[in-house]
Amino acid sequence: MWSTISALAVLALWLCPSLRAAGRIEALEPHMGTMFRIVLYADDPVRAHAAIRAAFDRVADLDNKLSDYLADSELNRVCTTAIGRDVAISGDLYTVLVASQSLADRTDGAFDVTLGPVIRLWRTARQTGWQPAADEITSALQRTGYRRLHLAGTAAHPTIRLDFAGMQLDLGAIAKGYAADEGLRILRDRGFPQALVAASGDIAFGDAPPDKPGWETGVDSIDASRESFTDVLRLHNAAVSTSGDTEQYVEIDGVRYSHIVNPKTGQGLTHRIGVTVVAAKGIDSDGLSTAASVIAEQVGVPAALALIEKAGARGIVVVDVDGQWKKYETPR
Ligand code: ADP
Ligand code: MG
Repeated sequence: MWSTISALAVLALWLCPSLRAAGRIEALEPHMGTMFRIVLYADDPVRAHAAIRAAFDRVADLDNKLSDYLADSELNRVCTTAIGRDVAISGDLYTVLVASQSLADRTDGAFDVTLGPVIRLWRTARQTGWQPAADEITSALQRTGYRRLHLAGTAAHPTIRLDFAGMQLDLGAIAKGYAADEGLRILRDRGFPQALVAASGDIAFGDAPPDKPGWETGVDSIDASRESFTDVLRLHNAAVSTSGDTEQYVEIDGVRYSHIVNPKTGQGLTHRIGVTVVAAKGIDSDGLSTAASVIAEQVGVPAALALIEKAGARGIVVVDVDGQWKKYETPR
């Protein structure tokens, strides 16, 4: 009798996948100079692994389009072909550049994807430990300016034009957030909505895990050796991004320069700061967290929080005030 019942139960589970307990599957793969992580809940591991493969392939496809490290990326190619003339670009490059230019407008250029020449100087400084010379920074800044990047055409056939040779675009502040969004979209399209895609500090969350109100994610302070703030966020169908100088910085003569650049001076940010933004999409949380870091240094923390709030997002800003960490938040 019991064996008949259990055989029927097994048969029912096999016939109706939704009755099977969904198991947690996690996968890691290096992309875009960092480790991408996918977590999802699935009752069919074979289909789940095929979906994960497709999501990682999509991220690799985006890296080929948006990277400024890969010499032959679409981004790097247009930096030489689109000088003074309109050149067709992919929908992905267009989407990321439209979001970037909108953020540049809203921040009076504090967020600027044309900062490539200056960003490259600071990248070299992080490798050598030598401060970029003042005249190098001045001449690199002359090849920047988001108003010198023009998007045109139609959404179906977009184009780009750059005003002069020597401009270098850099999407390091926004591409990973978009890639996380796109990885998540692929997983959802393939029937796995209970998923997350994480690109180190940029995480896109889908539906909540089974029987949970959301995905738990910790937001740490910017320096674990000092007083720390750890907020635990529970998120679903949202994205979170953190920008800071905990990992990428160079210290020269006792001054710590972040990999985030202040376009007004061409210097890496020197105020210690950590910004966490929660938005509907990773493309927005990623861009906003970097933009808010610059605004906090240029204008002040209230202006950084106002930028985040106006974008319909939420943010936590942790700054060093005379050796003490102080935490500020947008209204909950
Ligand atoms: P992470 O790359 O650690 O996730 P961010 O999202 O804050 O951090 O992006 C930092 C990167 O953004 C830099 O390495 C550089 O490529 C780029 N960047 C630096 N300053 C600016 C800026 N003012 N506007 C736009 N992009 C910037
Ligand atoms: Mg960012």
